[in-house]
Amino acid sequence: MKHQLGMMLGISALMMGPAMAQQQAQQQPNPNQVAAKALLQAADKAMGASYLKSWTSSGTGWMGYPGQQFAEGDLPRSDLKSFAENVDLGSKSASWQYTRVQGNNPLRGGGAGFPVQGEVNFKEFVNNGLGWNVNPQGQAAPINPRDGADRQLRLSLHPASFIQAALADNNAAATDRYFGRQNRTVKVVAFTIKVCDRPQPQCTRRVTGEFNSDNMLERVVTWFADPVLGDKMVELRWSDYKDVGNSVKMPHRVHAHIGDHPLIQGGHNWMDVRFSEIKVNAGTAQAVPDNVRSAPPVTTSNVAANKLADGVVQIAGGSHHSVAVEFKDYVAVIEAPLDQQRSLAVIAEVKKQFPNKPIRYVINTHNHFDHLGGLRTYVAEGATAITEDKNREFFKNVVLAPQPRTLLPDRLSQRPFAPTGPGQLMLQTYTDSYTISDGNQTIELHTVQGLNHSDNMTIAYLPKQKILVSADMGGPPAAGSPPPANISNNMIVFYNNIKRLKLDVVTHAPIHGAPGPHAEFERIVGPAAARAPQQQGGG
Ligand SMILES: [Zn+2]
Ligand SMILES: [Zn+2]
Repeated sequence: MKHQLGMMLGISALMMGPAMAQQQAQQQPNPNQVAAKALLQAADKAMGASYLKSWTSSGTGWMGYPGQQFAEGDLPRSDLKSFAENVDLGSKSASWQYTRVQGNNPLRGGGAGFPVQGEVNFKEFVNNGLGWNVNPQGQAAPINPRDGADRQLRLSLHPASFIQAALADNNAAATDRYFGRQNRTVKVVAFTIKVCDRPQPQCTRRVTGEFNSDNMLERVVTWFADPVLGDKMVELRWSDYKDVGNSVKMPHRVHAHIGDHPLIQGGHNWMDVRFSEIKVNAGTAQAVPDNVRSAPPVTTSNVAANKLADGVVQIAGGSHHSVAVEFKDYVAVIEAPLDQQRSLAVIAEVKKQFPNKPIRYVINTHNHFDHLGGLRTYVAEGATAITEDKNREFFKNVVLAPQPRTLLPDRLSQRPFAPTGPGQLMLQTYTDSYTISDGNQTIELHTVQGLNHSDNMTIAYLPKQKILVSADMGGPPAAGSPPPANISNNMIVFYNNIKRLKLDVVTHAPIHGAPGPHAEFERIVGPAAARAPQQQGGG
């Protein structure tokens, strides 16, 4: 009888036709959405989230440098002598001001100002998807719109704003998740939030959160847009909830990861802050400075070609340069920094300089994301990426993987190579040394030994032109300027490697900064290297 009834319902549903069936389905409330609404209302009551219009919190802890690892694994780290957050939900604006000190953290890896000398202050702001930084001289400068959207998303990753934003999304849905190792079940709420006003996909973000049996939000997981990783996972663990008055409970600790990936070893610790003081509804709106408001969107596509020798052109114009080298039948490009926008502009310039020659090789100096974010674009065009062998698994499984990327689709994700088709020499790795030559033109690649910045650093030497291309280890001082007060350990290690490899260098063409004569580099670094032959350090 039961079976018969089922049959009859099946037939009647068919007879209704798809339009009527859909209408009926819409009248049925989605149980996961109903569950989310109930859970979020309970969570709101438990925490007092809706009471919050703004807050300030301050504390201490530590922070990593994403994408700047010495080797595969965790991020380089500095201590946070102070960390202050000011969030104003009504104006959708926030500031993060913090002071980094090196503390006892290992000196290995990279990142702006790493290792930290003394105290370094950072001031970061966002207002409605527009992000900017203020430097120590008080000058405001906009950040890349892509990073501005990520920064705006951070406003909704705090439990108070998460709960408010999830309650505002009628499609927010809750499901159960069982943690076997802990023998407990959490409720996972997922919703979407708009973080900017531009064409998709970066402006609508998916955010998920895990609530415990007391209806407190313990963990938030979302994604940032990253040229190297694609959808970069971000995880914030909120804990140490304490009463701050007016029936509001605020978490006094956040532990965050960024860039964790099943195919990359270990956790990638982003930050850990313990808040000692939290003030509710005491935050202030962050107004966009006039020069930021009127500035054109930050772009990485400015290029300026600078001929270094016949068949050798530096493509400058931004923060990170590339060097294009012409061979008889093809071109090799040293470094593909930043992102696809940069690569498209550099590739266009290379094609102008050397028409009708394919880019056969793209050479990566080291694993830091700012130096390899544009690599995929070259590979999509058919170039083979060359890097030091320690990067092989990371490049093969992650950097060059042709999987879809939802937040930052690029040419390699949207026009993937057929896995069994031709054109599969995407990656070539080497140890110690590697030479590209057609008998007339030659590039020698060498690994740098004893460097604390990265364990996989490549320098590219052009023996015919006596030009050396290097990244993040300094170079000759600008013409007419006095030598720097401090010669970094990177520079000394670089200098010692040039000696070890017996490279006959005349001209440096660093990835950062202007080309210059090796004689100047020798003059400023030589004496320091002689004084400190065994010195170690990052940079
Ligand atoms: Zn670096
Ligand atoms: Zn760099």
